[in-house]
Amino acid sequence: MDADCLFCKIVAGEIPADVVHRTERVLAFRDVNPQAPTHVLVVPRAHHVNAAELAKADPETSVALVTAAAEVAAAQGHEDYRLVFNTGAGAGQSVFHTHLHVLAGRSLAWPPG
Ligand code: AMP
Repeated sequence: MDADCLFCKIVAGEIPADVVHRTERVLAFRDVNPQAPTHVLVVPRAHHVNAAELAKADPETSVALVTAAAEVAAAQGHEDYRLVFNTGAGAGQSVFHTHLHVLAGRSLAWPPG
């Protein structure tokens, strides 16, 4: 755990979150600023700064993140959904604890903004 990390604090239960799914490896909770009717963040319980660092350090948890995201989308009733890893501030990453955005419930344009 990183003592200054918001998502580590959510995983530890120190900051409340609307948790929709939990496994031994990951936690999924609703985004506080949803960009779609369903907007859930899936995070590893352990602290890694981004998706690539997680994949290098713990590939099984990378797989668990995607598997959990699919389960969340299905549980929320969506066949179609978008998964996003923002990586680096220039790409929109604002929390430096790996998180997979699950977006669904509206038509999603491409390319993204
Ligand atoms: P990113 O910009 O890709 O790093 O995504 C970080 C996401 O975390 C944003 O979509 C925020 O709305 C979301 N967020 C920030 N604080 C919280 C919180 N306390 N609980 C849930 N989501 C949060």
